[in-house]
Amino acid sequence: MALKMIETALDQEEILAGESNSLLSRIGNTPLIRLHSITAELPKKVAIYAKAEWFNPGGSVKDRAALNMILAGERSGQLTPGKTIIDATSGNTGIAYAMIGAARGYNVQLALPKNASPERKKILENYGAELILTDPMSGTDGAQAYVKSLLAENPANRDRYFYPDQYNNPANWEAHFNGTGREILAQTNGRVTHFVAGLGTTGTFTGTARRLKTFDENIKTISFQPDSPYHGLEGMKHLETAVVPGIYDPALVDENLEITTESAFEMTRRLAREEGLFVGVSAGAAMVAAIKVAQTLEEGIVVTIFCDSGYRYLSDRFWDEK
Ligand code: PMP
Repeated sequence: MALKMIETALDQEEILAGESNSLLSRIGNTPLIRLHSITAELPKKVAIYAKAEWFNPGGSVKDRAALNMILAGERSGQLTPGKTIIDATSGNTGIAYAMIGAARGYNVQLALPKNASPERKKILENYGAELILTDPMSGTDGAQAYVKSLLAENPANRDRYFYPDQYNNPANWEAHFNGTGREILAQTNGRVTHFVAGLGTTGTFTGTARRLKTFDENIKTISFQPDSPYHGLEGMKHLETAVVPGIYDPALVDENLEITTESAFEMTRRLAREEGLFVGVSAGAAMVAAIKVAQTLEEGIVVTIFCDSGYRYLSDRFWDEK
């Protein structure tokens, strides 16, 4: 019993201790970058910073959650050698599972909507993951339903598969409570006043906001989501019309903003040209949301998350629009 408690108290750094040269020990501790150009019109005492999550070895914020869920699975005995990791993912979590699976010796099977970008599918296949392509019209909810029915139809599948279920697994948000949130407090010397993040599984927002509010309940935590169910913000959910993730905690939301796909596309292009930051569309959306918050302030430090890099969306046509 005591041993069990000690084991569950171990966090990612301790589990990977002794593996300081390992790929997986490089997950987290991403740079916090200050925006300069696009923010030039803001009052002098207002600053916007972004966590540069493409610095993670799998290229996105989702390395954090995937690693923590896999380590939690190993600790609890639910994930044992020979089992296949299976989950539903629109892409970045899948890439993280596929990379960690390859590095730690697990097979990975992923259900994802057929319309996920070709780059993502190619990356997943080359990490050795097996892809199950689901109906694009039902989005990630459809992919989730597929995995659930596969596990339900045959009890033996429970022994074959480890299903992290990122939408309902506390190890998802805990990765951000112990990582992202703690890092933001350290990198701003506790001076962060506003935190802005988009909602997908809601793990990033929930875990980070919970950490920041534990430190100081006056820190404002603001979520954003697409303004309609049919949107181009890959990785984000329109909660009103989607299955609400079990880990979502509305009590942490001081304000929720709706962001249009068009404004996110335009901001994504501006971030590359005006700041030298070649980031993905959800990062563009995060910047639109961060500016909306910053414009209401006379003084403050707004921190947001740039989830991944623009390289992951090279075939998207919005890059060519002017
Ligand atoms: N942006 C991108 C590009 C993503 O892939 C995701 C993950 N679905 C998110 C944002 C949202 O992160 P979370 O799942 O932690 O809410």
